[in-house]
This record gives sequence, C-alpha cells and structure tokens, in this order.
Amino acid sequence: MKREPFLARLREEKEWDLILIGGGATGLGCAVDAASRGYKTLLLEKTDFAKGTSSRSTKLIHGGLRYLKQGNLSLVIEALHERGLLCRNAPHLVSHLGFLIPSYHWWEGPFYGIGVKVYDLLAGKLGLEKSVHLSKEETLARFPTLEPKDLRGGSIYFDGQFDDARLACCLAQTAANHGAVCLNYCPVTGLLKENGRVSGVFAQDSETGETFACRGKAVLNACGVFSDAVRRFDDPNTSPLIQPSQGIHFVVDRSYLPTDAAVIIPHTDDNRVLFFVPWHNHVLIGTTDTPVPEIQAEPRPLEEEIDFILKTTARYLTKPLERSQVLTVFAGLRPLVKAGGKENTAALSRDHVILVSPSGLITITGGKWTTYRKMAQDAVDKAIETAKLPNAPCRTHDLRLHGYEEGRHPVDAWLSYGSDRRLLSDLSSRNPELERPLHSRLPYTGAEIVWAARHEMARTVEDALARRTRSLFLDARAAMEIAPAAARLMAQELGFPPAWEKEQTEQFLRLAKSYTI
Ligand SMILES: Cc1cc2nc3c(=O)[nH]c(=O)nc-3n(C[C@H](O)[C@H](O)[C@H](O)COP(=O)(O)OP(=O)(O)OC[C@H]3O[C@@H](n4cnc5c(N)ncnc54)[C@H](O)[C@@H]3O)c2cc1C
Repeated sequence: MKREPFLARLREEKEWDLILIGGGATGLGCAVDAASRGYKTLLLEKTDFAKGTSSRSTKLIHGGLRYLKQGNLSLVIEALHERGLLCRNAPHLVSHLGFLIPSYHWWEGPFYGIGVKVYDLLAGKLGLEKSVHLSKEETLARFPTLEPKDLRGGSIYFDGQFDDARLACCLAQTAANHGAVCLNYCPVTGLLKENGRVSGVFAQDSETGETFACRGKAVLNACGVFSDAVRRFDDPNTSPLIQPSQGIHFVVDRSYLPTDAAVIIPHTDDNRVLFFVPWHNHVLIGTTDTPVPEIQAEPRPLEEEIDFILKTTARYLTKPLERSQVLTVFAGLRPLVKAGGKENTAALSRDHVILVSPSGLITITGGKWTTYRKMAQDAVDKAIETAKLPNAPCRTHDLRLHGYEEGRHPVDAWLSYGSDRRLLSDLSSRNPELERPLHSRLPYTGAEIVWAARHEMARTVEDALARRTRSLFLDARAAMEIAPAAARLMAQELGFPPAWEKEQTEQFLRLAKSYTI
C-alpha cells in the first residue's frame, strides 16, 4: 500500500463508483465491501487511518453483555454473529479472551451465571468457548489481584479481543488488494453537485496542497463524530445527528492483572461497566461514558473520568494504583446518534443508522467496531440503490482479510502482522540494527517503523508510534523516548530532510505528553 500510486490514480480516474469519506472502522469497512464487490472505490481520510475513535476503543470484538442486560437481543445476536465472522476471517487479528464477572453479592452468581449461558446460546454455531462458573478459591487462584473481601466466586464467559488500529490498517490493505484507492492525509473539503445532486467531492492533499475534484456515482459520509460537519457541506442548515460521548482508558503494568483473562465489573457503584483487559502484555482499564459538548480530534480525559477509574480500580484490585503508575491515558468519542431528525432515516439495526439526504449524500454512523462489516454491507447496499449501480452481491461474509493466517493466536503485537510477518522478518534480518527492540519497555523494533513507512502509509512519527505500532497507547513516556529514533528511520525511508525529523519529534513529544497524567 503506497501513497504515490494512489495519488496518481486519483489524478487519472474520471469517475468512481463509490467515494467514501472517512478512514475509520466504518469507512474502511465500506471500502473493503465496495471494492470486493468490484466497484471502483475511493476512500479519503482527513488525517491518518483510525486517528479518530477507531484507535481508541476497549479493543473488544463482543456481543455486548450490557445490551443483553437491557434485553436488546437482536443487537446482541447480530454482534455475536459478526464476532464469529471476524474471528474466522481475521484470526491473526482477533483472539478469544475469557472475561471474569466476579460476584460480591448473593444474587450475582446465579444472575450472571444464567446471563452468560444465554450469551453462549445466542452465539449459535459461531460461539466461542463455553462459559464456566468459578468458586471463590478458584477465582482468587486465577485472579490473585482481585479484591477478596465479600467475593463469592465468579463466572467466566468468552469474547473476542483485537488491536483496533492494526485492524484498520489491515482493512485499508484488504481494500487496496481489491483495487480500492485509500488515501490518508487527504481531507474532503466540499461536495461536488450537479442539478442539486451530490456528484463527487473536493479534496486536498495535506502534504503538497494539491487539490482534486473527484466525481463519484455515490458519496458516503463515514466520518464518525465528524459526520455532521460533512453533512453541513451538503446542507448548512441540517440538524445535528451526532451526540458525542467520551470514554477514557488507562494502560497500566501487567502486574495489576497477572492472568490471561479479563475482568468485567458489569455494575459499578455509579451504574457503569468497567473492564480490566490484558492487552499487548499490559492492562487496559476503562471506560467512561461522558456526554461532551465539543468534538475534538484529540479529546482530553476529564478529571472526573480519571478519578472514577482510580476510585473503581481501588475498589476491585488489591494492588494500589497511583496516577504516576498510569503509563498512558487515552480518550475517544462515541458517535452516538440522536433520536429524531427530518431526513429519510433507514435504521437498519438499532445500533447503526443510514441516512440519505435529499441530494443523495449517504451518511452511515453509530454502531461499533464489532459490527463494522454488517454496517458496511448495509451502507453499500444503500449506495447501490441510491446511485442505481449495477447490483453486485456482498462478498465480505467469507472474505479473508489481508495477512490472513490459519490458526488462532493470542493478540500479540508481532502476530498481528499475520502473513506479513515473514516479510518483516526478512527486512530485519538484512539489517540487524533494525532487529533490536527500540525500548526495553516496548515490544517494537526499528524494522516495524521502516515497514510502517514503506508498506502501511505511515507518514508521521505519530502514525508509526500511535497506530502502526501501539507504542503511544502502551507507554507514553517510552514512546517519547523512542520518537527521535523513529523520526530518523522514517526520514531515511521517506526521503525527508533533517528539519522534518526535528519538527516531527517535537510535534510527537507535545502530543504524547497529553497521554500522561
Ligand atoms: C471509549 C470507546 C470504547 C469503545 N470500545 C469498543 C469496543 O471495545 N468494541 C467495539 O466494537 N466498539 C467499541 N467502540 C466503538 C467503536 O470504536 C466506534 O464505533 C468506531 O470506531 C467508529 O468508527 P467510525 O469509522 O465511524 O469513526 P472514526 O473512527 O472516528 O472515523 C471517522 C474518520 O473520519 C475522518 N474525517 C473527518 N472529517 C473528514 C473529512 N472532511 N474528510 C476525510 N475524512 C474525514 C476522521 O479523521 C476519522 O478518521 C468504542 C468507542 C469508544 C469511544
């Protein structure tokens, strides 16, 4: 996947079948769907793939036990089905993970015990391992840092776990393998219109300033929390659709949860769900659900959210957690859909929403990472209908994603490259300097930075350290320490001057500081 040939095609192509705006889970999923059906597909991303919400999730491919508790069975069944498909089509990126629900009250054991059995049943043929019940002793033997006071035992059920930004990169590669052009750093700046109908987009390459007018039979807005800004290109008076809700996560040392399974607190003191999830040899703790008035590209954790996670962690884990022990804190915005709206709303599931404006702009939003494939199928079906494209059936049900490898792997940073791992090994074996980890607290090597720039369209130090490797999301201070080395490797690879290295390092250090508390 390379930027230059994509730009060349952008200059050449007279008309695309589908133009997708936004390179998060939703847009990239649509690109895979459309390209694999054989449509001429263009995806334009304002900054980097998954820079928005799609790199800031809890990293779960799940049916959502919470929705089961709310009685939203159809949503759970759909998500469990998608979970099963993704485990099958991308085993290098999604692994099975056990989740303990500890019980501290007499009623929780039977209540959650029945709940997880129903969850098993709803997954049908695509189910994962069966849930089990643990006594208090078994629970503490397996989860030694769990608060023992009042503990009665627990239930373990299984769900999927993944690396969100790496799956996004894999979707871009899969779409490209099927002929799509997926460009990062190429924002859509306006919509082309003919006779009142949307007929394409205006875009600009952020690196060179070159502008493009791209014609497309169908234009799809998949901009997550930024969807309303694109809808306003179409109609400046349109009423807002999105109500953003912020969620934050801490990443801490593995010693906080020295086990191979996660813990879910389904009902915290203030009625929220909190996860402790082992991830890339660290522990992810989150999340919150805080309505926010402003949509920012880099949302910041609020003090009340930080306090909530510290307080709740102290309630359930015996190892004390101080602010200084938090290796990284990151925030993301959920694109929740407001009820109502005047347009022709086709709510194809209660989770995601597809809207077609009077001028034919299609907006797809809501949903979650787990259901990105189904969202994409529904959105491309809607585009076929709206733009009267020749009908081609969806192929993603059984479509193996880029790097597909047989067998199931734990979510390991190195294994998430799938079959590309062999090429990556060749790269480092040719230059032993690239083979060494860049930092003793991080699993990543110099070869992965070069690989990211050469094959995964990483254009900035942030792309390489935040989303191609997950350095920033695992340990912000360690990521700051390796920024100069990463900048040097990228500058060599991409042919950028020393001034670029300096500016990129400084920019990354400023950003990474905001991931520490
Ligand atoms: C805290 C939190 C935890 C979550 N945990 C989970 C989980 O564990 N499992 C799960 O299944 N789901 C989870 N989700 C939900 C999931 O992450 C989101 O539903 C999903 O990532 C949304 O993807 P998206 O593509 O719609 O939006 P985004 O990822 O935000 O992508 C939109 C993109 O559009 C781009 N864009 C904006 N304007 C323009 C423009 N003018 N031109 C071009 N591009 C533009 C942006 O740069 C951005 O990259 C979580 C969400 C949050 C907030």
